[in-house]
Amino acid sequence: MTSVANANPNFDRLRIVLVETSHPGNIGAAARAMKNMGLSRLVLVKPEPKAWPSRDAVSMAASALDVLDGVLVTQSLSEAIADCHLVIGASARLRHMPVQLLDPPEAAARIESVRAEQEVALVFGREISGLSNEELHLCHYHVHIPVNPDYSSLNLAAAVMVLCYEVRKAALAANPAPAISAPEWDQAPATAEELDRYLAHLEKVLIQLDFLDPANPRQLLRRLRRLYQRIQPDRMEINILRGILTATETALGKREKDNS
Ligand code: SAH
Repeated sequence: MTSVANANPNFDRLRIVLVETSHPGNIGAAARAMKNMGLSRLVLVKPEPKAWPSRDAVSMAASALDVLDGVLVTQSLSEAIADCHLVIGASARLRHMPVQLLDPPEAAARIESVRAEQEVALVFGREISGLSNEELHLCHYHVHIPVNPDYSSLNLAAAVMVLCYEVRKAALAANPAPAISAPEWDQAPATAEELDRYLAHLEKVLIQLDFLDPANPRQLLRRLRRLYQRIQPDRMEINILRGILTATETALGKREKDNS
C-alpha cells in the first residue's frame, strides 16, 4: 500500500509560464492547480488585457490568491525564461524539425534531477494556437501529454494540472533520496539569455564569413540553436565559444586590412 505523502517539495526554482493567455478563468484555474501541487511561481507573457488582471481569474483561483499576487508579467517568452537553465515547452501537437520530445514522467524526471540547483520553466501556449514555432525552439525539450489522438488538445489549465501533478509525483517519489541525480559538474549551465547572446554573436560572424546569407537564412540558426540546446553547454563553454568568435572576427578584420 502506498502511503499518502504530505511533504511539500521545494519548487522555488520552477516557474510556470503561460504565453498570451486569453481566458482569465484559465489563469485562475492554472494558479489553483499549481498551488494544489505545491508550486507558486507563475509568469504571464503578454496576457490578453481582458484576461489579466481580471476578477474572473481571481474567482477561478479560489484560495490560490497568493499565486496570483506573485504573478510576474513579461513582454516576451525570451524575457520570461532569460535566467533559466532548463526550459520545457508543453505542446498539444507534434511539429516538424522536432526538439527532443518527452512524455510527462520523463519531463518530470528531468525537472526532478535539477530542481535543487537550476532555474526551470514549464511553458504553455495560447488557447487557440498553442506555442509558435519560434517559441517552441526556445525550449530544450517538448512535452506532450498522450491523450486521445483524435482530440489531443487539453484545456490550458488542465494541461498545467497534469504536468504539475507529474512534477509533484516525481518529487515525492525521489524524496529523500533522488532516484535520478544530476551529474556533478564544475560549472553552472548557461542560461537561456547567455545562449541567446552567443547565438546572436555566432549569427553575426557567420554572416561576415559569408556562411549565412541574411536574405535567405533558411533553418540554419534554428538548427544551431537546437544543437546547442541538446548539448546544454555550461557557462565556461559558452565563454570559450564566444572567445573563438571574437578571435575569428579579429582575424577577419586583419585579413580585410591586408587585402585593402
Ligand atoms: N489548439 C492549440 C492547443 C492549445 S491548448 C494547439 O493545437 O496547439 C493550450 C496549451 O495547453 C498548449 O499550448 C499546451 O501548452 C497545453 N496543452 C494542451 N494539450 C496538451 C497536450 N496534449 N500535451 C501537452 N500540452 C498540452
